[in-house]
Amino acid sequence: MAVQIGIVSGKGGTGKTTLTASFAAAADDVVLVDCDVDAPDLHILLHPVVKSESEFSGSKVASIDVDKCTRCGLCETHCRFGAVDVPEIDALSCEGCGVCAHVCPVDAIDLSPRLSGYIFESATRYGPMAHARLLPGEGNSGRLVTEVRKLGERIANATGSDTILIDGSPGIGCPVIATVTGLQLAVVVTEPTMSGLHDLDRILSLLERFRVPATVVINKYDLNVDNTRKIEDMCQGRSVEVLGRLPFDTVTTDSMVAALPLPEYAPSHSMTERIVEMWDRVIGMAH
Ligand code: SF4
Ligand code: SF4
Repeated sequence: MAVQIGIVSGKGGTGKTTLTASFAAAADDVVLVDCDVDAPDLHILLHPVVKSESEFSGSKVASIDVDKCTRCGLCETHCRFGAVDVPEIDALSCEGCGVCAHVCPVDAIDLSPRLSGYIFESATRYGPMAHARLLPGEGNSGRLVTEVRKLGERIANATGSDTILIDGSPGIGCPVIATVTGLQLAVVVTEPTMSGLHDLDRILSLLERFRVPATVVINKYDLNVDNTRKIEDMCQGRSVEVLGRLPFDTVTTDSMVAALPLPEYAPSHSMTERIVEMWDRVIGMAH
């Protein structure tokens, strides 16, 4: 079974996806999985070519069979979301809770799966990729993350790849829990700010609770060396290894503007060397 490595952060904007794309470019043979389904952007750097897509249903939507409906109005009275105007149900307001179907005396209400998004299997120049798109206003991204991870596992089984590299959702909510469950290693990307410290503390607690081994990358560490030291102290206190520090360097922004991972944009740059070294250590820690 393939080893699963997730790149996560306590909040968005820490450089998580940039690092994931750079690790992908540094890797030999990985399956890529974008679990940041609420705001996926790994595709911007990896330019996947979609090979197949499938529909994802994360919820249900109710509808009334007008031939059976006796217009008793019970469903309208009991719907807490104001979605029913007998014999119509507003699909956008319907939360799929099923109360209307439960109270209907003549079994006139049907709950059917609602299209919530799409799951893609794609090819990139660094390996196959599983990713998804949640439709606007749709929830249940935790379940979508689980489905995308399952697709990544199926691809790894089919290709014989021994490593799955996951771009996780930011934060500590449901999609993050779905991302980190069962990982062999989580690489937490943080920045030396006070909010970065707070967010790091929360995500490390989450990883500890789910017994996921963690290591930390301090991005733009030189912007505040005092806070960098505080992060290192926190990691030491929690027996979490700091994988490395990355300095602030405009080459990172330049590579993003060029929509290329750093090792491809600047193969001989010192930042690329640091990232390649980090990836080698990550592989050693996870396998
Ligand atoms: S499923 Fe729930 S939200 Fe949808 S119409 Fe029925 S009662 Fe309202
Ligand atoms: S509860 Fe059933 S029968 Fe009554 S109005 Fe609603 S759909 Fe029609």
